[in-house]
Amino acid sequence: MTHDPTCIFCKIARGEIPAKKVYEDDKVFAINDINPLAPVHILIVPTAHVPTLMDLPDNQFDLVGHVFRVAAQLAKERGIAAQGFKVFHNVNDWGGQRVFHMHFHLIGGKKFNE
Ligand code: AMP
Ligand code: ZN
Repeated sequence: MTHDPTCIFCKIARGEIPAKKVYEDDKVFAINDINPLAPVHILIVPTAHVPTLMDLPDNQFDLVGHVFRVAAQLAKERGIAAQGFKVFHNVNDWGGQRVFHMHFHLIGGKKFNE
């Protein structure tokens, strides 16, 4: 599978940096964010190295649907589904992206005002 040996999320995917995976399947894994914005802050990370949404090949967009399916499952498991939560993906500099290996944030467990 495609990977970048200098990428932190590729290193986590391959077990080269220790991180507790809270979910894993053949397409994605999930970890708790190291700097959580809310009581629940999980990163859902496609295993293959794709820097941003803009680099995802046209024929691989079902991966995004899969990510949302996993997000719904994790939200249910963490008990944040009924009250509500956010799923978001930052793209490039102005979008606030800091790690250039595509990932989706699942945050919840508090009320957001925006
Ligand atoms: P973004 O700004 O969307 O690129 O988000 C990157 C996220 O990755 C931030 O919320 C960081 O706190 C988080 N992060 C960076 N390194 C790690 C790590 N080793 N383990 C877990 N989360 C991380
Ligand atoms: Zn990577």
